[in-house]
Amino acid sequence: MLASALTYAAADQSGAIKPESYAVGKTMTKAVQASITPGSALDILKAGNVRFASNKSIKRDNKKNVMKTGLGQYPLASVVSCIDSRATPELIFDQGIGDIFTARVAGNIVNEDILGSLEYAAKVAGSRVIVVLGHTHCGAIKGACDDVKMGNLTNLIAKLKPAVEATKTDGERNSKNHEFVQKVADENVELTVQKIRDMSPILKEMEDKGQIKIVGAMYDVGTGKVTW
Ligand SMILES: [Zn+2]
Repeated sequence: MLASALTYAAADQSGAIKPESYAVGKTMTKAVQASITPGSALDILKAGNVRFASNKSIKRDNKKNVMKTGLGQYPLASVVSCIDSRATPELIFDQGIGDIFTARVAGNIVNEDILGSLEYAAKVAGSRVIVVLGHTHCGAIKGACDDVKMGNLTNLIAKLKPAVEATKTDGERNSKNHEFVQKVADENVELTVQKIRDMSPILKEMEDKGQIKIVGAMYDVGTGKVTW
C-alpha cells in the first residue's frame, strides 16, 4: 500500500501532471496541488487567516468538495495544533474539506506518531508546508508552568517542560504570570519546530531541498489572528 502510494507520489514529481492554478475555495486536486509551492502554501494559509479574523471566511460547497475529494486527497499544508476548542486550524485558516492535514494534541507537541503522520502528509501525500501552531492562554502550557500531575496528562506535560525550563522571567514561574505563560508557549512552538527537524530525517531532508517549509506560528484566541 505504502509502496504504491510512494510510486504514485513519484509519478507526480516526474511532471506527469499538468498543474492547474489555485483559487480560494477551489477543491484541492492532484493538478491544483502540483501548482503549489511551499511559499505559496504558506501565503494561502496567511490569506485564509486574514479572511477569518476579519469575519470574511468564504462560503464553501461542502457537498461538492466531499464528492471531489472522495476520489483522493491532495492537501496543501499540515498543521500541528492544540486540542483547544478555539484553536481549530480549518476555521482559523479558512480551509475546507481536503485542504489541510491537522494533528491535534494538547500543547501542540510532536511525538513519534505525530512525526510519522507528518512524514506521510509531506512525503506521500504532497503537503507543502508544516505549521506548528501554538495559541495564547493555552491550558496545557499553564499546566506545565504549574507542574500539574494527573493521570496520563503527566507524561504529556513532561514533554512541555523543556519549554518551561528554557524560559526566563524575573517574575513568578507559574501560570499566574501571564507574560511567562506566553513566553513558554512561544518557546514551545520553536522547540517543536526544531524537534521535527531533529527527529525526522525525512522532513529535514525535504526542507533542505526546498520541497517543504516548516514554520511556527501563534494564534491569539482573543483576536482570531495568527502571528507568523
Ligand atoms: Zn492549548
